[in-house]
Amino acid sequence: MPIQHDPADVGADARFSDTSVPRRGLYDYIIAGGGTAGCVLASRLTEDPTISVLLLERGSVHNTFTMRCPLLSSSYAQGKHPSVRWNSTPLTAANGRVLEILTGTVLGGASRFNSMLYTRGSPAQYDEWRRQGRVGWSYADLEPYFIKSENAVSTSGYYHGTEGPWSNRHFDKFLFKPNVATSAVKAAKDLGISYTDDVNAPEGPCVSCAKIPVTLASDGKRLSTFDAFLPPLITTQRRRVAICTDTLVTKIDFDVGGVQPVASGVFFKPYESTPKQRPFYARDQSHQGFARRWPQFDHVGTTITYRVSDTLHALESSLTRALTEFLNYLIRGRGLFTNPSVQVSIFAKSDNLGDDAEPGVEETNRETFPDIEIMPIPHECTYVTSQKSQGFFSFICVPLQPKSSGTVELFSHDPYANPKVDLGFFTREGDIEVVRKLDEQLDAFIGQNVRTTYHYASSCRMAQEHDTVPGVVDDELRVHGVSRLRIADASIFPDIVATHLQAPVVMVAEKCADMLKKTWSATN
Ligand SMILES: Cc1cc2nc3c(=O)[nH]c(=O)nc-3n(C[C@H](O)[C@H](O)[C@H](O)COP(=O)(O)OP(=O)(O)OC[C@H]3O[C@@H](n4cnc5c(N)ncnc54)[C@H](O)[C@@H]3O)c2cc1C
Repeated sequence: MPIQHDPADVGADARFSDTSVPRRGLYDYIIAGGGTAGCVLASRLTEDPTISVLLLERGSVHNTFTMRCPLLSSSYAQGKHPSVRWNSTPLTAANGRVLEILTGTVLGGASRFNSMLYTRGSPAQYDEWRRQGRVGWSYADLEPYFIKSENAVSTSGYYHGTEGPWSNRHFDKFLFKPNVATSAVKAAKDLGISYTDDVNAPEGPCVSCAKIPVTLASDGKRLSTFDAFLPPLITTQRRRVAICTDTLVTKIDFDVGGVQPVASGVFFKPYESTPKQRPFYARDQSHQGFARRWPQFDHVGTTITYRVSDTLHALESSLTRALTEFLNYLIRGRGLFTNPSVQVSIFAKSDNLGDDAEPGVEETNRETFPDIEIMPIPHECTYVTSQKSQGFFSFICVPLQPKSSGTVELFSHDPYANPKVDLGFFTREGDIEVVRKLDEQLDAFIGQNVRTTYHYASSCRMAQEHDTVPGVVDDELRVHGVSRLRIADASIFPDIVATHLQAPVVMVAEKCADMLKKTWSATN
């Protein structure tokens, strides 16, 4: 039976700006959160002409020039931006500092402002999930879903898609002088790490310095999952998809009479784009004692910064350069406004990086996957450097397989309240050593320069319910102990994927849509 939406639950002054008002009656599927995964799911499910979908997103559409321009949309640290930010709990590993937590509040979620890097991760990681018992989650099982969404413009091979809606391409050339990218390629080569044009080739070296494709349209516009999977053509032609923005899902309704609770609908309210600031960590007295805590993972970054002349800072320091680049973007869709911040990246085994290492020794071993990524970035990426008036170049060093986990804790029934997040960086032995391989004296430096890379993951991990770290969803993404409720986003990864997350998130949404459509056609 389809999930029921009860119109009586709509707040009296609910606004459905930019979108259709939900039709009264039943929807076959309700998707809570129109983020990176949510847009893919809505699009794929409504390919079936018998399925109707209600997509509820707390943020707005924000289909503006700024949000389509890659560089401007990714400037989330400044000014007004469709995101919610709050502080983590103080981090021991960062000398008691708090770090900023950031999530999107916009249709398309983080794919509307992220750095657009498209990386799938090593096949060995997914094969490890299968080895741990996750049926249907080996790389061979998942490759078709990567292919399905993809339109690979700059790379080719049987493992790439060319007919999917989501394009990725390399930047035309390496930018900046002295060239950040070519210097990184040379430095990696000196360490015995080879260069590859295709970071997503499953048979490629697992340790490599790789050119990184980005999810960018041919005209230089950002290609979020909202742009790629829900273009106007689809949303106007498919009357069966109702997209309601500015709408916060506040509660899931359950029928509790049967063997196990059945998710039957959702409650929702209007969401203010600029939510009221709520006090942090101040427990709501009326809910004293309420707490739901889940482990969660993130990729911690440590930044090393160098002062150089030609970086993205050129746009701030030279009006002429800024105007030239802006015109280049407007006319040709090229140049610095396309956000060429990461053009290559180094994926390595930390064992190969210390003074006593044997360069490249693990390079051909397909059973292993990299445990550190070193991203050369043409701007300043720490929270601590004060000399903003100069150009900087940073290496962000990221342990890719962290053992340390943090927690995300709901401490109030208020659906507008942000959860309490402990990032838990460097709390388990073995993680800081991966970064420290560069120099054994670096602990204090790491503490000062630690940052999040916004890769929040695995808080609803796919695993058995009573696993050592308890699972929330099964191999079909169904929530344990509940009927008709699935989760499909970055939270379900059994372990944080040892790469950037958006391509794996889209793969999860593609697979979830496929599983739902199969169930639908078997029961209708
Ligand atoms: C700044 C930044 C840069 C990044 N750069 C990259 C990169 O270059 N490459 C890469 O691969 N990955 C990158 N990532 C990570 C990647 O973008 C995310 O992991 C991925 O997009 C998460 O997808 P998701 O669907 O799980 O969540 P999201 O995309 O965050 O979507 C969740 C959606 O749910 C909505 N929502 C939440 N609660 C409610 C509610 N109660 N009711 C209604 N709606 C709700 C939110 O508004 C949001 O739109 C970056 C992330 C950030 C934040």
